[in-house]
Amino acid sequence: MQYLMQCLNPKKQCSTWTSRPNKVPVACPGCRSRKVKVVATIEGKKYHCERCSNDWDAYKGKKPKVCPRCHSPYWDTPRREKREDAKVTN
Ligand SMILES: [Zn+2]
Ligand SMILES: [Zn+2]
Repeated sequence: MQYLMQCLNPKKQCSTWTSRPNKVPVACPGCRSRKVKVVATIEGKKYHCERCSNDWDAYKGKKPKVCPRCHSPYWDTPRREKREDAKVTN
């Protein structure tokens, strides 16, 4: 989850910005004003590793190539069937 923030400092014309994941900023990064408000929330997509059951937040729609925990490139492939035929069609 990320937050779309807006600075309420009337003296500065700070634009809105997006917070760090899962962190509500307490001050504007531009003018350090603490008068900020959450304009919108950006729902974070969650990825789940089928190999080590790791859950992590997906940012900016980028699908990671490997699981950040077990570094398996097959983190999104369920283990159920054994499909070991290495068919590489590019
Ligand atoms: Zn500001
Ligand atoms: Zn994993």
